Amino acid sequence: MAEFSIIDSYFNRPSLASVDLGVGDDSALLTPPPNQQLVICADTLVAGRHFPLDTAPHAIGWKSVAVNLSDIAAMGAKPQSILLALSLPQIDHDWLKAFSQGLYDCCDQFGVSLIGGDTTQSPHLTLSVTALGWIEQGKAIPRSGAQVGDLVVVSGTVGDAAYALQHLGHALQSRLDYPTPRCELGQSLQGLASSMIDISDGLAQDLGHILKASQVGATLELEQLPLSESLQRLQDHEKWQYALAGGDDYELCFTISPQNYDILMQKKPITPITIIGQITQGTGLIFEKNGLNHSLQFDGYQHFA
Ligand code: ADP
Ligand code: MG
Repeated sequence: MAEFSIIDSYFNRPSLASVDLGVGDDSALLTPPPNQQLVICADTLVAGRHFPLDTAPHAIGWKSVAVNLSDIAAMGAKPQSILLALSLPQIDHDWLKAFSQGLYDCCDQFGVSLIGGDTTQSPHLTLSVTALGWIEQGKAIPRSGAQVGDLVVVSGTVGDAAYALQHLGHALQSRLDYPTPRCELGQSLQGLASSMIDISDGLAQDLGHILKASQVGATLELEQLPLSESLQRLQDHEKWQYALAGGDDYELCFTISPQNYDILMQKKPITPITIIGQITQGTGLIFEKNGLNHSLQFDGYQHFA
């Protein structure tokens, strides 16, 4: 019975009006808006692997939602709801209260409902969230659309979370614990960006996925990388390691033609964006410093390293 009292106490807040049936039945019910495609993704966070064991439960709740909304945003879609599969080593009410509050805080900020899930016991704290969203038929922005001559653009700043992981307690820790999914920016790129990805495993590796899927190359100007003040102060090699190979940014990286970039800027996006490079013929990523070739060897985060 513990399972049901956990669900009732912590995971049974009312859904938004767009949900026909939420938590409490065998499945949830949603009505697809006319002419929209379902966009769906899942992401699992394992304690000690994806976040330090002593991470505040409120932050774990926020982040487990945010990383999924970031994947929805990276398709250009609007998030609508999430499901939560929760595996707990024990029942800790203080932990559950703070965790569920963090989860709902992120849901509320982005207009998303928790509509169902599963609750089990297991030796490891594991959180698996599935997110659902909608996008007009044919409007999703894939990784495979980058064209030679497109600009490479990134949102926010990169490397903050990786820096914070090495400097726990630093002001940038909020960027590690409370990533901001770029939902509004992602949707504003519909019909404008040619390809898009969200950066979870480091900019170099994730941009590499776009290049591979699009069968193109890119040059990236190191001096253009958007960095927080704390990172700007570091030696070149160290700051570029954080910015290019650090994980957990949850910023958007997209490609866009120069004409569409002008249209985007006329819309005055609230989220800061920076042009960091250009799509070229060929394959792979070439780094430049002040316009000159600059060789760097970085790897992103490897889940099975
Ligand atoms: P079933 O046995 O039919 O799979 P459960 O007893 O697991 O159903 O769950 C009861 C209800 O609570 C379902 O609507 C399910 O989606 C929901 N639920 C279970 N765990 C969670 C959770 N961690 N967060 C949100 N909803 C949950
Ligand atoms: Mg069940």
